[in-house]
Amino acid sequence: MKHLSLTPLSSFYFICAIFTCFSLFHTTESRADERKTCFQHDKVCYLTSEDKKGAHISAQNSYPFPMRVSLHLTGHNITPSQKTVNARLGPGEIKNIISIQAKSHGQWRYNWTSQLHPDTGDAAHDDTVLYQLPFPKTKSYPISQGPNGAFSHRGPNSFAIDWAMPVGSEILAAREGTVIALREDSSRGGASNQYKSEENYLWIRHPDGTIGQYLHLKKDGVVVEVGDRVKKGQLIAFSGNTGYSSAPHLHFHVSSSQQHGAAFKSHPVNFAPR
Ligand SMILES: [Zn+2]
Repeated sequence: MKHLSLTPLSSFYFICAIFTCFSLFHTTESRADERKTCFQHDKVCYLTSEDKKGAHISAQNSYPFPMRVSLHLTGHNITPSQKTVNARLGPGEIKNIISIQAKSHGQWRYNWTSQLHPDTGDAAHDDTVLYQLPFPKTKSYPISQGPNGAFSHRGPNSFAIDWAMPVGSEILAAREGTVIALREDSSRGGASNQYKSEENYLWIRHPDGTIGQYLHLKKDGVVVEVGDRVKKGQLIAFSGNTGYSSAPHLHFHVSSSQQHGAAFKSHPVNFAPR
């Protein structure tokens, strides 16, 4: 959480963002001329500048690869009053995403949610691929939230799966690919908004361009490096309970970016029988 300011309000802003299986909520009740709201360990930041006439929101990508960001805006006494924008950000690029005009009378406010995903271009999921369950054949774990799960597997995350497992359980690659990003320095997690930007994660790009995402990993629990090529079934990480997580589990989904609407969508996948 970057800011939680409690000075008296002249206007009210409620800012949140959604990435992967959760929402990130940032709130402030102060009026600030500029603010920065970052996600994914500061790899993607939104910069908001405000004046009496309105606000401008730009996004900055610090990943070494292109990202897709989408931002859904709603508000009161502003133009536009509701809009979804979707933009591609090159490595290191900062780009204006949306400009908001305040109407001349009365208080105005705006809210936004955002989604982020590596830009996968025109990647199409190969539905003939059989994935391997992401843990050893000697292990069996209950699914604590399946596709379309009411807690957080909605919208872009519709085809995500959570397996409840003890912290430190071995995570194997469900499919071969190349590691494009990871985080493993967080030790914080829980079922509270304050933990929503605290998850450790591992992203693996598959041969068809889609991304396999392994989330909520243990601190120092990733055993591969960015750039590594991993084989299906290879030990890649240890499970944890970091980020927005009500109990130790692994969240897994396969996704690709979209050029319209939400920045990404998840894909249904088939697992090989054991
Ligand atoms: Zn999940």
